Parts: sequence; C-alpha cells; structure tokens
Amino acid sequence: MTDKHKSQKTVEGTPSDMARRRIAVFGSTGSIGTQALEVIAANPNLFSAEILTAQSNDELLVKQALKFQPNLVVIGDEKKYEKVKAGLAATDIKVFAGEKALEEAAGMDCYDLMLAAIVGYAGLRPTLQAIRQGKPVALANKETLVVAGDIVIKTAVENRVPIIPVDSEHSAIFQCLVGETRNKIEKIVLTASGGPFLGRKPNYLVNVKREHALQHPNWSMGAKISIDSATLMNKGLEMIEAKWLFNLEPDQIQVVIHPQSIIHSMVQFEDGSIKAQMGLPDMKLPIQYGLSFPQRIPNQFPRLDFRKFNTLTFEEPDMRTFRNLGLAIEALEKGGNLAAIMNAANEIAVYAFLRNRVNFLDMTDVIEKTMHKIPFIKEPTLEEYLESDGEARSYAADLIKL
Ligand code: NAD
Ligand code: MG
Repeated sequence: MTDKHKSQKTVEGTPSDMARRRIAVFGSTGSIGTQALEVIAANPNLFSAEILTAQSNDELLVKQALKFQPNLVVIGDEKKYEKVKAGLAATDIKVFAGEKALEEAAGMDCYDLMLAAIVGYAGLRPTLQAIRQGKPVALANKETLVVAGDIVIKTAVENRVPIIPVDSEHSAIFQCLVGETRNKIEKIVLTASGGPFLGRKPNYLVNVKREHALQHPNWSMGAKISIDSATLMNKGLEMIEAKWLFNLEPDQIQVVIHPQSIIHSMVQFEDGSIKAQMGLPDMKLPIQYGLSFPQRIPNQFPRLDFRKFNTLTFEEPDMRTFRNLGLAIEALEKGGNLAAIMNAANEIAVYAFLRNRVNFLDMTDVIEKTMHKIPFIKEPTLEEYLESDGEARSYAADLIKL
C-alpha cells in the first residue's frame, strides 16, 4: 500500500484538522466529475482520487485513471470492460463493470468521501450504499433526493453521515447556515438564472431545438441538467432537493429569477434578516467546498468584482410558460412517490428531446400525463419508489413511442 492510500493522514502545512481525504468520484467523466478532478489535482496534499466511475466514456476514464492512479475504476457499460482493462493493464488499478459494481464500489472501505456526480436516477443506489457504509457524501446528484429523499435523509441521520450539498444554490444555503444551528429558517430564496429562454413565450418555445436549449447563458453543464435549466424543471427539482436537505415546508421555499447568477441563493431568518452567498457562477467553488468542508481552502479561481456587476435584478418566474415548475411544486406539496414519478418521466422526456423525438413543450405534457397516471403512494418503501420509477419510465416512453 502506497503512502497515498493511508486513511486520514494530516498533512503538514494544511489547516490542522484537515486530514487528507480520499475521494470517490462517482461520475468522474461528467461536467461535475471533471471539475472535481481539477480541484483534486490542484490540491494533491489535501485530496486523492481513489475511485473513478463512468457510464460509457472509456477513453476519458482510462486517461483519468492513468493520471490519478485510483484504487479502482468502474465502467457502467459492461461492453466497455475489456477496453478499460486493456488501457490499465500496465497498472495495479482494479477494474469493475456494470451497475451492480457501482453499488459494490460505493460499499468499499478505500475512500473517505463520495462525490455523488452521476446524473439522474442512476445515482440513487450507489449514493445510498455510501451512506449505509457511513461515508460522508458531497451531493451533486439532486435526483437522488428527488426520488427518495425521505429514505436517503433517514438513512443519513441513522448512520450520522453528513450530506454536503454541491448544487450551487444548496451549497449557498448550506454556507449561509454555518453558525446558525439554533436559529430557525423562515424561508429560503432559491435563485434561478431563467435559462436560455428567459422571457420567451410558448409560440417561440414550440420550435426550439436541442442546440438552442443546450446553450446556457451562465453555466456550462451536462446535457440533461442544461435541458432541465431551459424548462425550469431544474429549479423544481432543486425545490424538492432543498426540502429534504434543510427540512423545510413547501411554503418556505421561494424561487426568484436572477439572470446574473451572482447571488447563488439566500436564507431569511425569523428576525427578517437575509443572508446571501455570492460569487461568480463557477461550479468549482461549491465542488471544492463540498470536498473540503468545514474548511475553506485557497484557490486561483477568478474573483467577483462588484464594480463590473452594478446591476443585480430579480423577478418572478413565468409559471404559465414554464409549466414544469408548477408540476414540481405539485410533487413537492403532495409528497409520496409523486416526485419520483415526475423525475422518471422527466428523464425520459429529456432523453427524447435530446434525440429530436419530442418538441420542447411536449416534454411538459409527457410529465404531467405520467404524474396523473401512475398510482400515488403516500409513504412508499424503497422498493415502491424503484417500482414507481420503472412504471413511470415505461408509461412516458409509450406516450412518446420511444
Ligand atoms: P454529465 O452528464 O456531464 O455527467 C454525468 C456522469 O454520470 C458521467 O460521468 C457519466 O458517465 C455518468 N453516468 C451517466 N449515466 C449513468 C448511469 N446510468 N450509470 C452510471 N453512471 C452514469 O452530468 P453533470 O452535468 O456533471 O451532472 C451530474 C449531476 O450533478 C446531476 O445530477 C446534475 O443535476 C448535478 N449538477 C450538475 C451541475 C453542473 O454544473 N453540471 C450543477 C449542479 C448540479
Ligand atoms: Mg443548481
């Protein structure tokens, strides 16, 4: 075992209680995953990458593994196993493949903290496994909480496992809450950029294509979340994510459009005081904070200069045009398995839109019909959540004739 594989070793010249953390990057080839590896590479004394996983991008996974020398890698697509194995033949890095292997890797002891950066429902099982194993989770994968938030949070509480949000809005709220443990939240304000179609109306949206929807004004992100941002479903998912992370009632969560994406979100306390967390829109900051929490560590990221941003604006979201937000609020208020159903239908709708199989506005109809078709369960078990996900997926796929 090399030095870097030893657990919790305090490093000279770093904050005294900041032990070196062995990170498991689940979804290392994605937008969040690659930025996390940049953070890890910039802080070799503080972090190492011990597990890397990808679904199908074998070439990038091999390249990352050669650079970071993790303990093991997992490739989701089993057909790619031989290629990854061959690419890493000259190393002692272990290679696994398949969905089950992802969960097994999450249950291993060779890491200290999971960065959950898989996209979609696929992130749920490995994340839950890490929590059961007592591993802290830096959570980017919001769908995990949307699908089964009550079970994920209950498991985390039972195992005394911290979940540190990486989603920029939730990281902002989390940062505003540091030192406020005894103080109640009156409400939170989730800021939304409004996406590439801010101010547009249905007659415009009916014709937009994948290429337009993927052009986000402020953030460069994976395809699925880019479409979710364009439809405002992303903000809906984030409302549900916030409910579970911060134990809030639906009416304590407000969404406001803030096109400059400088205020990442806000918390209002019982005395009316509002705290905001601000900065340039750069996911590397919440990723780094998620990995280093509770410490802040220095970096070279560009700084916000207020003299260049003299106008910060706020407006109400247009819920008549962006109806996904209303559907998400319905799921937030009703609870049960409705958010899991909505999430599954949304994943199918986005998949179809990205392949030009449905138009932009049809996505909402697919989600709405699926939400009102699949049987509602008030207090689902994990199995029932998974079943609802499957039923919703096949119903939505049938609607689109996928
Ligand atoms: P992405 O599509 O760029 O990357 C997804 C990663 O997950 C890739 O490594 C991919 O190989 C892996 N993956 C995809 N499908 C998988 C499957 N079925 N099984 C196992 N692995 C699979 O996505 P992203 O933009 O990095 O987003 C990741 C998560 O972080 C999402 O839940 C997203 O909502 C959240 N998030 C992203 C951003 C951002 O700026 N990109 C910001 C906030 C939150
Ligand atoms: Mg976000």
